[in-house]
Order: sequence, then structure tokens, then C-alpha cells
Amino acid sequence: MPAHIAGTLHATPAPVWLPYPDDVNALLPSLWSDNVTKNSDGVLTIAGHPVTELAEQYGTPTLVMDVDDFRSRAETYLSTFSNAFSVEKGLAGADVFYAGKAFLCTAVARWVHDAGLGLDTCSLGEMMIARAAGVPGDRVGLHGNNKSAAELEYALDYGVSRIFVDSLDEVARLESIAAARGTVAPVMLRVTVGVEAHTHDFIATAHEDQKFGLSLADGTAAAAARLVAESEHLRLDGLHSHIGSQIFDISGFQVAAARVLAFRAEIMGEHGIDLPDVDLGGGFGIRYTSQDTPIPVAEMAEELASVVAKECRGLGTSVPRISIEPGRAIVSPAVFTFYEVGTVKQVSTDSGPRTYVAVDGGMSDNIRTALYDADYSCTLANRNSSAEPAIVRVVGKHCESGDIIVRDEYMGADVTVGDLVAVPTTGAYCRSLSNNYNHLPRPGVLAVEADRVEWIVTPEDHTQMFATDPGMAGGGEPN
Ligand SMILES: *Cc1c(COP(=O)(O)O)cnc(C)c1O
Repeated sequence: MPAHIAGTLHATPAPVWLPYPDDVNALLPSLWSDNVTKNSDGVLTIAGHPVTELAEQYGTPTLVMDVDDFRSRAETYLSTFSNAFSVEKGLAGADVFYAGKAFLCTAVARWVHDAGLGLDTCSLGEMMIARAAGVPGDRVGLHGNNKSAAELEYALDYGVSRIFVDSLDEVARLESIAAARGTVAPVMLRVTVGVEAHTHDFIATAHEDQKFGLSLADGTAAAAARLVAESEHLRLDGLHSHIGSQIFDISGFQVAAARVLAFRAEIMGEHGIDLPDVDLGGGFGIRYTSQDTPIPVAEMAEELASVVAKECRGLGTSVPRISIEPGRAIVSPAVFTFYEVGTVKQVSTDSGPRTYVAVDGGMSDNIRTALYDADYSCTLANRNSSAEPAIVRVVGKHCESGDIIVRDEYMGADVTVGDLVAVPTTGAYCRSLSNNYNHLPRPGVLAVEADRVEWIVTPEDHTQMFATDPGMAGGGEPN
């Protein structure tokens, strides 16, 4: 009898949302990238490459990027939004800017550019990657709530097409830099529309207590618009709003779009200018576990297009060109991480036994579980299990009890030392938020296609990790 039916006799600490698996070895295809399957021996394969071989050759832990999946997801976002916002449909077109902070290296920047997307950056380092990858400045945007003078100088040198101005201080800083260079800086104003969305809820308030953007409610956004519109060295191209992350509820985007478009109409009327661009931000939710129900891209695009058309008609304004900035939704599903199991422990909880499976990484390569209470799934990646499914918690090797990668999942109860565990959907905010806690070198990212396997980020070694400690210059030998 399955443990969840056995009730008190064989209670499990499974959360209510987690279904007892029909087949614990089977993949839930919607959690894995296009080219990932399991072979008849239960070995996870990507584009024909078994992870057992990848583990042997490249080591663990490793993040694996399904390159074709990444590229096709990027193309799908662009074609779907371009189609929904087409001129034939009475709109003014759409751009997709990939949010580089989700995960960025030169290979990713190139793929994004090849697929026809723009690239959003928010630091000198991210701009340097984009530039080294050959992405032209006019396909790059610069975000950030506290851009340094050096970052603004670099952005103007690079010729980025949009600088998202986030404060009155920044209006002054950018204006004086542009004036000193005798140039005109392209400005999008980041406005706080009083909508905050998280997953299935959104909250619309008059005021938002957070660090980003210029408030519509208290008039700061209007003041900034006036300063930019009147400056000889700043060109007001449009408005931007980003309401949150991992959003499944379309109504937050609809309210935000309506508020931005109404503000745009005011600004255009007051200053007698046209604002050609409106950026509705990113944050489109994805599937980390079976409980997540993202909005299909086509539905999102159609709904947003209809709000934009309706609001502009009501306001009697021109229709702006729309951009969106997905990060997670493009990169996360294209990547999984595999680890090797080092220890397995049974502990008892009030609701039954739980198995702790400790792997050779943790919160240094995936901090989202600890930081955001995120849920992940996982699977045994090197073999089939014929054991009864058991509730496991996959944890790392760090000195924190919150060092959890997968809080709850079913795995065959015989999971053991030396097994490989793979965690899907780790493309976004895992490698980019990775760290050297406990002096663990950070893992690499392996790009896999049928005929090609190569590092796009090499694994850090101890020499690289210790390069900033002068006392380790001798390689860590006692002196
Ligand atoms: C983080 C961020 C994004 C991307 O968010 P995702 O959840 O990865 O889609 C887009 N725009 C802005 C301004 C952001 O800060």
C-alpha cells in the first residue's frame, strides 16, 4: 500500500501539494528541457549524452545547459510577442530583452543576440560580457537603482539603447555626464506603479515601500519626466515598469500596463512629445514543481496586447512599441544541475520518516531554496530504483541547517552513496547567485548539444578561488 494511503500507519512528512508518484523513476516532462529523457536503465540523458558519462568526464556538481532548448525558448518569446503586437494587428511591434542577471556568460549573450533578442544588463560586469560577446550597444539596456558614474560612462561609450533611470539623483548624474561628453543619453524612466506581484497574487496599492523606481503616486515620476524632457542632454524615449518575479497571475501585468499607459498619456500631453517605448518588465512564472501553473506565452502576449490596444484607444494616444524582459522564463527550464550523493540519513519527524540525501554542492550553487523558500524537484539520474518511493530532502554540504536544495520530493528509498541526483530548472538565479561559502569552488556550466559538449563557464578551481587571498599565493602550502 502506498505510504500516503496508509495514513497513521505509515505517515509521511510529504507536503499536501506533492503527489505520490505512479512511477518514481519517470520524469515529469514539463519540468525538464526538450532534449532530456531517461533511457531504459533509468539514466538521465541530454541530447543523447548520459549524465553518468558527463559526471565521469566533467565531475560533479555541474550545471547542464540544453542549448537547443534555450535557443528555441528565446525564439518563441520573440516570435510570439512580435506576432501579438504586430502592426497588422494595429499595434507597434514588440521587443524581447533577455534579463542577463538570471544567468549571463558570453555564449548566452551570443545566443540571445543570434535569436534576435536584446539584452538587459545592470552592472559594468554584465555590460562587459555583452560587449565581449559582440552584442551591439543598440541591443543592450542598462538597469540598476544605483549606477555608478563609471557604469554610466561605459554605457554611453558602448552606445546602449536604453538607460533605465531610477532616481532623481540619477537624472542629475546622467545629465552631467552626457553634457560633459556633448552627447544625448537615451532614457527610459522606471516608474513604480503601485503593483506588486508574487506568484498567484498581486497587490495594487498607492505606494510601494521598496527601493526601485520613481513613484507615480507621490509625483516623483512626473518630476523626473519633466527634468528629462527639458534636458538637452537626455532624451525621454519611454517608460518602464517591473512588478515582481515568478508571476502566474496576469492581472498584475494588466493593471501595471494600464497605469503606465495613463501616465504616458499625461507626460505626452504636458510636454508635447511622443514616447515611442513602453517596457512592461519581466517576471513571467515558470514550473519548478508539479504545483506551478504558468500562463502560456501566447496567452500572456495576447492578453497584454489587448490591454495595450484598449488603453491607448481609451486614452486617445499613439500606441507604443512594447518590450518585455524575461530572464527566468527563458533560461531556467533549459538547465539542470547534477550532484553526487555523499551521505544518506534517516531521521524521524512528527509525521513520519524523512530521508536526508546530502550532495556535493548546496546553497553555494543554488541559494534559492534558502533565500526564497523556493521549491524544486529532483530525480535519481544514474539508474532505475525498484524500491518503494520515500520522501527525501536533498541537502548540501554547507554549515547551515537551511542548506537545502530540494525540500520535498519522492525518490526510491534505496537512494545511496555514489548515486547521481539531478535537479531541473536551475538555469536562473543559481549560477548567477553562486558563492564560495565554506570555500567551495563554484561549479561550471556545460553546454550540451547532440554533437557538442563544452564548458560555457568553467568550474572554478582552488587556485582561482584563492586568487584574492595574498596568503594563498603559494598554493596553500604552509610557509
Ligand atoms: C529581474 C528583472 C527582470 C527579470 O525577471 P525574471 O523573473 O527573471 O523574468 C526583468 N526586469 C527587471 C527590471 C528585473 O529587475
